[in-house]
Amino acid sequence: MSNAPSELTNLTIAQALKGLENKDFTSKELTQAHIDSVEAHDKLNAFVTKTPELALQQADASDKRRASGDAKPLDGIPLAIKDLYCTKGVRTTASSHILENFVPTYESTVSQNLFDDGIVMLGKTSLDEFAMGSSNMTSYFGNVINPWRSTSAPDIELTPGGSSGGSASAVAARMAMGATGTDTGGSIRQPASFCGISGIKPTYGRCSRWGVIAFASSLDQAGPMARTVEDCALMLTSMAGHDPKDSTSADIKVPDFSAALTGDIRGLKVGIPKEYRMDGTPAEIDALWDQGIEWLKESGAEIVDVSLPHTKYALPTYYIIAPAEASSNLARYDGVRYGLRIEGDNLIETYENTRAEGFGDEVKRRIMIGTYVLSAGYYDAYYVKAQRVRRLIAQDFENAYKQCDVILTPTAPSEAFALGQEEEDPIKMYLNDVFTVSVNLAGLPGLSLPTGLSANGLPLGLQIIGKSWDEETVLRVGGVLEKAANFVAMPDSSILKAA
Ligand code: GLN
Repeated sequence: MSNAPSELTNLTIAQALKGLENKDFTSKELTQAHIDSVEAHDKLNAFVTKTPELALQQADASDKRRASGDAKPLDGIPLAIKDLYCTKGVRTTASSHILENFVPTYESTVSQNLFDDGIVMLGKTSLDEFAMGSSNMTSYFGNVINPWRSTSAPDIELTPGGSSGGSASAVAARMAMGATGTDTGGSIRQPASFCGISGIKPTYGRCSRWGVIAFASSLDQAGPMARTVEDCALMLTSMAGHDPKDSTSADIKVPDFSAALTGDIRGLKVGIPKEYRMDGTPAEIDALWDQGIEWLKESGAEIVDVSLPHTKYALPTYYIIAPAEASSNLARYDGVRYGLRIEGDNLIETYENTRAEGFGDEVKRRIMIGTYVLSAGYYDAYYVKAQRVRRLIAQDFENAYKQCDVILTPTAPSEAFALGQEEEDPIKMYLNDVFTVSVNLAGLPGLSLPTGLSANGLPLGLQIIGKSWDEETVLRVGGVLEKAANFVAMPDSSILKAA
């Protein structure tokens, strides 16, 4: 083997594919290096379930395929799968007590697509319970830790963001080359920003939701998280595609997304929405945004001011629609069909006991809000009104896209915060999604990539929002921004490594 294990875990997916092809190393070696890294970073608590034996078997099979000339597009690449994707025969918990021992008998379409393309699964990554949260603190299996530390308070553990915090932490700490995430209101992009990696939420309907445990069905999308824009493009090409099992999955051809990374954005129009200049955003985030604008200008893009006038209604709208759909989706966890059951004296009591014990506080809060806004007396005042505002938010983007091709914004209103810092105040936690939820409400693609460090030495991301089905332009602009930003900083997780 020509590469030491640490070198193998530092490769991008694109580089590793070349190395495998050139026989510089085997998938088994690449996979073993990542299994070792998962063990070394155990304290970060990124995984709910680790599957090293399965990974080595899959790596072995991959090496055999490659030897016989049958290599698939992602053959032999070790990835982590968010524990919201049902994986056949492998426990899938949604980080909830209620699904603690749930072993699906089926595979989600998106993970199946990845397996069909040859990936190796290292395990299932932790998340906020049922993907509800922005800090990973609501996981039943304990919070995930961000591998990054602030230079001003290096002893304080930071959140990786959420809900895909386990995936983000695993990719940032070089435990996995990439990971799947899901994004209902920002759960791929905000943790990517907090952990210094890239992640894209594709257009609603681009990836099948079948077999991905539902949170809010009209907002949920699967997407990739990786260390480069190109790696995201490679993963998305494999994950996306029409699926007859999901009626909202679109029958649209999946392009080779990595081919979109031409590096040329001359003449492209980049919109800057004035409503995203918000009071209370740290000056360094606005400054990074301005820097991003400069970089794109220098690369030949034209910058135009656009307006998204209904932006201020996005969070309240999201926090009506998402809980409404969640309350309905989570009705299925009744102690009869899935997971946990706490017997009562009768069926109603069994439901009550199971749900009282099985769900955490944040999930209960969402179920209560959702049930309230859907109840007969309040349906028109809240749910119907939120649906109307949602339409206006989508229309804002349609209007903006008459003037521009993509929109550039910050990803999150802060750097990674300390674990537990925002927990007491749910409203403050919800503010994390201020720049991301509109994208879900409008069903658009949005990419976050790391573009700089805060004064505390923590990663900060910028977001590129595209037109529906135009992930290619989003990725193309992302590639240019990535090159200009040249983000090479890495977390120093040595202090976190197990002895
Ligand atoms: N933080 C948001 C929420 O709590 C978004 C979560 C997500 O995208 N899954 O709902």
